[in-house]
Amino acid sequence: MGVVYADFTDINISDFDAVVVGCGFAGAVCAQQLAERGNKRVLIIEKRAQIAGNMYDEYDEAGILVHKYGPHIFHTNNQRVFNYLRLFSGFLGYRHKVLSNWYGTYIPVPFNMTSLEMCFGEERAAQLEEKLVEKFGAGSRVTINELRQQEDPDLAELADFVYKNVFVYYTQKQWGTTEVDPSVTARVPVLISYEDGYFQDKYQGMPAFGYTKLFEEMLSHENITVCLNTEAESVFDLRFSSMEEDAPLSSIYIKGKPFEGPIIYTGPLDEMFLSRFGRLPYRTLRFEYETLDQERFQPCGTVNYTVTEDYTRITEFKYLTGQKSDKTTIMREYSLAYEDPQNQIPYYAIINEENEAHYNRYLKLTESLPNFFPLGRLAEYRYYNMDVIVERALDLSDKILSE
Ligand code: FAD
Ligand code: UDP
Repeated sequence: MGVVYADFTDINISDFDAVVVGCGFAGAVCAQQLAERGNKRVLIIEKRAQIAGNMYDEYDEAGILVHKYGPHIFHTNNQRVFNYLRLFSGFLGYRHKVLSNWYGTYIPVPFNMTSLEMCFGEERAAQLEEKLVEKFGAGSRVTINELRQQEDPDLAELADFVYKNVFVYYTQKQWGTTEVDPSVTARVPVLISYEDGYFQDKYQGMPAFGYTKLFEEMLSHENITVCLNTEAESVFDLRFSSMEEDAPLSSIYIKGKPFEGPIIYTGPLDEMFLSRFGRLPYRTLRFEYETLDQERFQPCGTVNYTVTEDYTRITEFKYLTGQKSDKTTIMREYSLAYEDPQNQIPYYAIINEENEAHYNRYLKLTESLPNFFPLGRLAEYRYYNMDVIVERALDLSDKILSE
């Protein structure tokens, strides 16, 4: 069977045991688990015109499979997550490689011992490598912040070089500031080895027929109904315990009745409350696609522009998907402040203490409602990769099903 779609106006809410808002991995995995393992009838409400959240991919006019909401490469160390996703799709082995366009020369990112040799010359690189190995051990991964704390003058010089040539300008473009939480730049360590993959996880790959197909497979279940083009705000009638601004939720009405079953919410939490405490800050992205009448554009899947250009990176999709064609489609990414919820998408939560406190004020409103579960990159206001979301969705489903 295929995915069951319905118009929200035709829905009889009494026909459903659970409601899921958002159809990315957080929502779709929960829906699949509740439907399959718990035999629950699940209604998914998705505001976009299609399923698969940020993982959505489609064929462009040139017949190239492209990602509409940013390049997505699957990687994980979690066996359960990988086994679970393989129930719905085969995976093509693909190890993502990234190069920095450093004033016209391509150097590996994460910065590794090959990058070191390219930037410092063989002799100096050998001296620095020896010091790195002595300090951190061969094969280790060091964050740029840790490297910058080194007092040894050689290591300090190297740290300064890597910081200036790999991190500063890219981070400024991506976040509008270089003052970011250390966990953000720690995602891309310096490698004291010749390892040249962007990710260091055990399992890496791409769904054989794309993410959208994987989602279609996951959601093709008689117990799941999907309503597209439907925003939670337009179907939820929130009731509060009092008129106070911080009064917690007492129930959520849908179609005139309080909904008693589990509600899994994966959209931005502030937007559900019409941003009553002010909007949570996010970064959004603008994508510029270009199809070229040539087989290849660049030497690997993604090239990061760490010292020049206004965009952060260019991704060439054929590397990711393994597709063959005499044309190619590339995508430039520009990052900017999220200011217009009607026309922009909140892609990245901006992690810092102030925003965490702001988010917690929203979260507190929901804690009084035991059947309400905020889940995912938006609803939890976190910087999660896909595999972590799948894991959290599996764990939450276990919890709901055990109650
Ligand atoms: P989403 O995929 O964002 O899904 C949320 C869904 O909820 C959306 O479909 C949205 O339309 C819907 N929604 C929101 N609000 C409402 C509402 N009010 N009513 C109804 N529906 C609503 N991770 C990796 O592991 N590897 C990568 O290579 C990778 N690349 C990335 C590149 C970019 C540019 C970005 C931004 C993220 C990347 N990620 C990557 C992270 C990945 O996108 C997330 O981990 C994943 O999308 C999280 O799934 P989710 O379901 O929480 O959120
Ligand atoms: N980063 C950088 N230069 C790079 C790659 C990454 O400065 O060449 C920093 C930047 O701050 C970025 C963060 O590391 O936001 C995390 O990078 P990642 O590639 O994981 O970001 P994502 O793919 O999630 O956008």
